[in-house]
Amino acid sequence: MEFVNSSSPRYECLLFDLDDTLYPLSSGLSDACANNIIEFMIEKLGIDEDGVVELNQILYKKYGTSMAGLKAVGYEFDNDVYHSFVHGRLPYENLKPDPVLRNLLLSLPFRKLVFSNGDEVHVMKALKRLDIEDCFEKIISFETLNPKINDSCDADYLPEIPVICKPTEIAFEKAFEIAQLNPDTTLFFDDSVRNIQTGKAVGLHTVLVGKSEKVEGSDYALKSIHNMKEAFPELWSESDNNKESERIAYTTQISIETSVEA
Ligand SMILES: [Mg+2]
Repeated sequence: MEFVNSSSPRYECLLFDLDDTLYPLSSGLSDACANNIIEFMIEKLGIDEDGVVELNQILYKKYGTSMAGLKAVGYEFDNDVYHSFVHGRLPYENLKPDPVLRNLLLSLPFRKLVFSNGDEVHVMKALKRLDIEDCFEKIISFETLNPKINDSCDADYLPEIPVICKPTEIAFEKAFEIAQLNPDTTLFFDDSVRNIQTGKAVGLHTVLVGKSEKVEGSDYALKSIHNMKEAFPELWSESDNNKESERIAYTTQISIETSVEA
């Protein structure tokens, strides 16, 4: 691993996906989520059971998320209803406090942000279960990238696409703007190959999580987020030189406005 012999730090910011990145795929949340999406398509949208799984796969591949795909092909439904159906019944009890990850995060005095396609309620529930909700400066969630449009809003301000989500470049660019982050000094962690590839294309340094082997577009691969210190010892040596480092949690800085008790 290279060290940059310069007074300016190589990294200033760590940007983390949530699902299957900050907790492992083996938790079962992703499988449950996929089942809930299929149920939503059948029960709420009246899509025929035959071929629904294949349709979901096609939409997911082409549009980034199932929700984005369903909207793109003309289904109309309330985003909050979708999220509460799909995420509301996930087995959150499978997520346990993760003191190893918590200590890793808190010992790194860089900017740390979560960048998830999930809704705010889901993101905060999962982070709270993991006991790491106060380790991040900001959460970029579904609602951050897709704010509710005021009915009286000017048509010029309507979004050009129905849902903005990873892996589209526009999602990353919006996230950079909202969080005021420079991709060139940001290390991005995600378990999704296509998210990693877009991340690389928009200038991030990329870490594929959950795999031991790098893929095209990933600068690094990490079997588990717990291996951060072994994989990136320079993050800790950089932090030793960071005069502004203070090992404090961002208790009051989480920019989530909605209740997470729903
Ligand atoms: Mg993920």
